[in-house]
Amino acid sequence: MTKAPVIVAIDGPSGVGKSTVAKQLAKRLRLPMLNTGAMYRAVALQALEDGSDPGDRRAMRRLVREIDLELRTDGDGGVEVWLRGEPVGQRIRTPEVSRAASLVSAHPSVRRRMVELQRVFARRGGAVLEGRDIGTVVFPDTPFKFFLDARVEVRAERRHRELVAAGRGSTLEEVTKDLEERDRRDAGREDSPLVRDESHFEIDASDLLPAEIVERMVGMIRRAQEGDREDAAGDPELAEVADD
Ligand code: C5P
Repeated sequence: MTKAPVIVAIDGPSGVGKSTVAKQLAKRLRLPMLNTGAMYRAVALQALEDGSDPGDRRAMRRLVREIDLELRTDGDGGVEVWLRGEPVGQRIRTPEVSRAASLVSAHPSVRRRMVELQRVFARRGGAVLEGRDIGTVVFPDTPFKFFLDARVEVRAERRHRELVAAGRGSTLEEVTKDLEERDRRDAGREDSPLVRDESHFEIDASDLLPAEIVERMVGMIRRAQEGDREDAAGDPELAEVADD
């Protein structure tokens, strides 16, 4: 019997701190961490660079059919998105790309292609994936699914701090409005909307530190694996969470 790769899904709205938590959790589990939002952002970046309309369904279908997008691991558990042979880096972290990513991600053709790449990547050896539809669409069968949420003012302040640190001058009001608009679009779209379902383990991140959230997640994963071990009557091939 081969070991089942451990796949951890972390879903939740913008600015909730999914990436920070996913990065720390992935280190603990010695798995790569895939930020799926970066993939939609890369598609958006290409649309903007090409002068294509991110809201145009047909143009976006053409764009993803031919897109040269790769996921490369950096040897330290990080995964970088490469577009046309170059890492996207900070080019995808602008308000313009955020808005365009929210638009491109509503197109079924774009989602299909990104989900395909995410599945191929994670099935190779397991991964922690963070996004909006990981537990509901990309890996609905994984037993390790989390939904992170936080009050909107906490999320907006967090995003605002990140933007200021990156030297971008949006006001807190602008950031809040932007977040609310993207959340509305993510939750309201027809294909793969942002939803928590009963299989998600929900965590309110508003008043918790990332390390505290990671502890909860590790505890839940261990408990689920122990349950599984009992069910499997000591199946020695069951993948286990690293013990440090
Ligand atoms: O997570 P992040 O804000 O970087 O994601 C950028 C955009 O990509 C989101 O606003 C959302 O619309 C979209 N997204 C998605 N599904 C995912 C990850 C991100 O639709 N799994």
